[in-house]
Amino acid sequence: MSTGLAPSAPLSVEDLLHEHGMRATPQRLLIHRVVCDRPRHVTAEQVQRKVADLMPGLSLPTIYATLDLFVELGLLRRIPTLSGPALYDSDTEGPRSHMVCRACSKILDLPVSPVTDDAQRAAEAQGFQVESGDLVIYGLCAQCRAGDTA
Ligand SMILES: [Zn+2]
Ligand SMILES: [Zn+2]
Repeated sequence: MSTGLAPSAPLSVEDLLHEHGMRATPQRLLIHRVVCDRPRHVTAEQVQRKVADLMPGLSLPTIYATLDLFVELGLLRRIPTLSGPALYDSDTEGPRSHMVCRACSKILDLPVSPVTDDAQRAAEAQGFQVESGDLVIYGLCAQCRAGDTA
């Protein structure tokens, strides 16, 4: 059973905010709690729906600003999508590769590096130094495929 006490427990959100000279407001702490809940991949709109009961009146711009702040602090990853709002992922360790189901909009982690050796070589051939990348693959998830053929 996993607990919050990982061997290399990172700083708490409060500590991290304070370290950057920012206040750990109840809004920020609540939004952080919501995005670290399952499911891991959320849009700002989903966050807004989840916090609506607990803290009504939290505006979408505030939520976007807070999520982007967390991205800057390294607490979240922002995954750009081609069609639709960006996703925020509380997994900042694994590869930045995802699959998005176009039927049910489910987002799944894909355990491969988004920057392939081919991409790396092609970039270097143009004198480009690769630092990071995002990979989003669109298609149909297993459940939706099963539903299609039923
Ligand atoms: Zn699906
Ligand atoms: Zn993810």
